[in-house]
Amino acid sequence: MRDRYENFIDGKWVAPIKGEYIPNINPANHNDTIAQFPNSTAEDAVSAVSAAAKALPAWAALSSHVRGEYLRKAADVLASRLDEIATGLMREEGKSLPEAKGETMRGITLLRYFAGQCMLPDGDVIPSASASTFLYTKRVPLGVCSLITPWNFPIAIPIWKAAPALAFGNTVVLKPSELSPLTAIHIAECFEAAGLPAGVFNVLCGEGVRVGEVLATSPDVTGLSFTGSVRTGKHLASQAVAHGKKYQLELGGKNAAIVLPDCNLDQAVTLTLQGAFKSAGEKCTATSRVIVHKDIYDTFVTALVQKTLTLKVGAGDTDAYLGPVISAQSRDRVLRYIQLAQDEGATLLCGGDAPTEGNLANGFYVNPTLFGNVTPEMRIAQEEVFGPVLAILRAEDLEDALTILNGVEFGLSASLFSKSLDSAMVFADRANAGLVRVNGETAGVEPQAPFGGMKGSSSYSREQGLIARDFFTQVKTVSIDRAG
Ligand code: NAD
Repeated sequence: MRDRYENFIDGKWVAPIKGEYIPNINPANHNDTIAQFPNSTAEDAVSAVSAAAKALPAWAALSSHVRGEYLRKAADVLASRLDEIATGLMREEGKSLPEAKGETMRGITLLRYFAGQCMLPDGDVIPSASASTFLYTKRVPLGVCSLITPWNFPIAIPIWKAAPALAFGNTVVLKPSELSPLTAIHIAECFEAAGLPAGVFNVLCGEGVRVGEVLATSPDVTGLSFTGSVRTGKHLASQAVAHGKKYQLELGGKNAAIVLPDCNLDQAVTLTLQGAFKSAGEKCTATSRVIVHKDIYDTFVTALVQKTLTLKVGAGDTDAYLGPVISAQSRDRVLRYIQLAQDEGATLLCGGDAPTEGNLANGFYVNPTLFGNVTPEMRIAQEEVFGPVLAILRAEDLEDALTILNGVEFGLSASLFSKSLDSAMVFADRANAGLVRVNGETAGVEPQAPFGGMKGSSSYSREQGLIARDFFTQVKTVSIDRAG
């Protein structure tokens, strides 16, 4: 570990032009400063975008097989550094070490998966009206892509954007969250060790507000892929539209699980809690509402409270079930929502405060919190809290549960616990969410499957899976005729 890290631009580690740095703090212990990271400015962003533009023609001209080989090599380097990189991720993000390792392994899988996509057909042969014409389509790169990412999945999200971008011949500037820059630096080190040509993959650290405009509007940028909050996403999208860029947004969620009386109770309780409290509830797909059929409400809530009271809070390298939230501001926002829910009349069933005993006093922790008697119009049932807080709502039947489930501005993920095939089919048809699971938690998706939300959770595009290439390529239609 070093005390200070630099940006990765044009294949070199370079200090920010204005020489400004910000500390990266361990959320499990605010006395632990991990290192200083560049707080880049617009000049640094221009330099990163120019490097990506300069590298684009040669990278785009390589055969996709060769590009895939670079991704495979980067995956091998990442695999060889798994423990070290996962430990750094845990230290800057706060999730548990097993979760950090799982996320790092996912990064490796994503790189290998998109390396594999480099061998797939990249167009169609289309019968022409003329017998002598060879008519076909070919996927070609978009160009320079700005990738702006949040802190909560510091390895998976940058890689699920960068791997397809690179595989399909684009060059990129990654702007990771200022709250989790170390993992982005580690990703750059893996690409550097894989021998990726200079300028193909650049990392620009620092606060988004200082560099966002260049990344969204530079004449050299063609695509903007963003994951983060609704507010930032909408702002960046309006800039991108005004400057004719292609953009994709993955935003927040207010994900719900529906529990019916014919569920497997143990499974429903365990997976609801896992969805709500793993990673301290800081997943875009976290379960933040559970909608329980009235006939099983009391039984389910009793079991949920009992199990929640056994969950241990603590640092990621202990046996704790959940760690801290990302920052003091996040903790205070979550505590404000807890107060608000009580003011609105919800019943606090457990948690509701920040633990202060021993080492926990030095971290940004919130105890896992359950609210009963929540009604659909309450803010705790409508707004993304992004912390370990679960709102429990009562439903008359599946129809009523679906109305509650769909009655929010978001539509990222949803799940149902039931043994009934009919209920599963009705739910799968009617849940207005991009990711719909039966007898599974709301969080979690496989890299080979499309990922993204409906309504306010996304810009209607999808990431990962085969569909990822739709954003990172454009289609060229070619017709070739005989001379004469
Ligand atoms: P955020 O919007 O605050 O920050 C996201 C990124 O945008 C960061 O890199 C930040 O530096 C940058 N940024 C901030 N202001 C900017 C500006 N003016 N111009 C350009 N860039 C700017 O979000 P966050 O707090 O990092 O992440 C949490 C949010 O992300 C939650 O709402 C969560 O649901 C969402 N999220 C969504 C998904 C998904 O796939 N749908 C996945 C993970 C997280």
